[in-house]
Amino acid sequence: MHGMMMNRPLRIADIITLAEKIHPNEEIISKTLQGTLHTTNYAEIALRSRQMSKALISLGVKMGDRIATLAWNGFRHLELYFAISGIGAICHTINPRLSSEQMTYVVNHAEDKLIFLDLTFIPIIEAHLDKFPSSTKYVLMAEKEHMPECKIPNVICYEDLIEKESSDFEWPEFDENTASGLCYTSGTTGNPKGVLYSHRSTVLHALIQCFYNAGSFSPKKKILPIVPLFHANAWGIPYSAPISGTSLVFPGANLDGKSVYDLLEKYSVNSAWGVPTVWMGLLEEISQRGGKKPDGLEEMLVGGSAAAKSLIEAFENMGVRVIHAWGMTETSPLGTSGRLISPFSELPVEEQRHLQTSQGRKIFMVDLKIVDDNGKRLPEDGNNIGNLYIRGNTIAGGYYNNEEASKAAIDDEGYFGTGDVASIDEQGFLRLTDRAKDLIKSGGEWISSIDLENRAMSHPDVENCAVIAIPHEKWDERPLLVVVPAEGKKPSKEELIKHLEGHFAKWQMPDDVVYEDELPLTATGKVSKLTLRQKYENYTLAS
Ligand code: AMP
Repeated sequence: MHGMMMNRPLRIADIITLAEKIHPNEEIISKTLQGTLHTTNYAEIALRSRQMSKALISLGVKMGDRIATLAWNGFRHLELYFAISGIGAICHTINPRLSSEQMTYVVNHAEDKLIFLDLTFIPIIEAHLDKFPSSTKYVLMAEKEHMPECKIPNVICYEDLIEKESSDFEWPEFDENTASGLCYTSGTTGNPKGVLYSHRSTVLHALIQCFYNAGSFSPKKKILPIVPLFHANAWGIPYSAPISGTSLVFPGANLDGKSVYDLLEKYSVNSAWGVPTVWMGLLEEISQRGGKKPDGLEEMLVGGSAAAKSLIEAFENMGVRVIHAWGMTETSPLGTSGRLISPFSELPVEEQRHLQTSQGRKIFMVDLKIVDDNGKRLPEDGNNIGNLYIRGNTIAGGYYNNEEASKAAIDDEGYFGTGDVASIDEQGFLRLTDRAKDLIKSGGEWISSIDLENRAMSHPDVENCAVIAIPHEKWDERPLLVVVPAEGKKPSKEELIKHLEGHFAKWQMPDDVVYEDELPLTATGKVSKLTLRQKYENYTLAS
């Protein structure tokens, strides 16, 4: 027997419609490309999104069409999130840091009908005009007075589109499983794979986020998303913030430590979200300002890569709560939540810090399991380490127009294979050992690069580091520690090895240490171990 409750479709447009009524005056502040600060609010965002939806329809956009954005975090990008999905079209957020080959692939694979771009990215489009579909049209996300001369044919001005339309428009109703967004993950090999979100998955994710990160989301709170709107929906912020009435401060193109600090301070931002590399930049800026944290900053959410204990401690010691979470583009992205709740939040400080280095705890509606190489489930005892699989309403069930990758991604029980290697303890804490492809296999045993990096990072003269596998005749692979020394310092190999000793078995210790001025980053701002492995593939280990 079925229940007798109504079954209304979950729709993204309802999020901004609600915000317009309930939180109309909560502010959205954006750093513009001209360096000025632009202030708007949810009422205006909703109104302009409706105007843009009408403009899209006038341009011939239909349900299911892919409409791309190539843009920084700012108010127009937020409007597009609602305007595009609101009419049943698909918002394809392009990562501007993709290689030319990858970008050519994703635009052609998605068959983007329109591309909305920030002025910064004109050169990228100009360089790809003959590589993208000839039918693709381009819209510059700018006011009339900032429209430059460029080689893009028939380029349209965003504000012209808005100006021509009234806001008298109701978003249509359609099935909640209608596709709403498309985000490609750039694997290390092969072409990028498209994750196709639905209205249902997106709304459910927004609600889950509002629950597990309730501390970040409420009226009078301000979040600064450094995580880009082109990376896994900026971790769901664009949806959870309007539901909850949280203000947003968008950094635009300025993501360096000083710019981020200034914005956090100026607007007394409560919560900032981003990958560890960004927080290392902010930490450096804070230390240059005599250790003073930005006023108002209460917490930061770290994800995308493992947050080192030293990073967590540095911010916690300043009174900034660090929430370490794990997720993937394929998981919408929240997969586990690292916000410590009672009784864990009452544990002695050192025990809390240890838990904070884990990737957080299981959450509602998201099932996790770890399995051995034969697919057999392993006990969740904190000791067994296995391949991590995940299942739920907010998890990708396959990839857009890619049957082969879709088949390979899902196991017999309907779980998605993350490619991560991890343990899960009795209390549901997930602890990542590595990306499967970054693990170091030495003499048949696995060595965790994350553990070694964590310890190395706690050396005061180490600014950043990575541990990678070097091919080895006898042992198959051995670990190499790549260190970026802190300014004006150069810790010796002996000193660094001594710092690691006692924390690892002898066979787990790096064979050698090399120094770099900086570490190469991926398109999403993570350390690119692939690039490092390629650089050092012929390296001869000292021992
Ligand atoms: P992406 O889809 O680009 O966001 O990448 C997802 C991958 O980033 C995951 O499969 C993990 O390997 C890695 N990742 C995400 N969050 C964390 C974290 N907190 N600690 C370690 N690795 C992470």
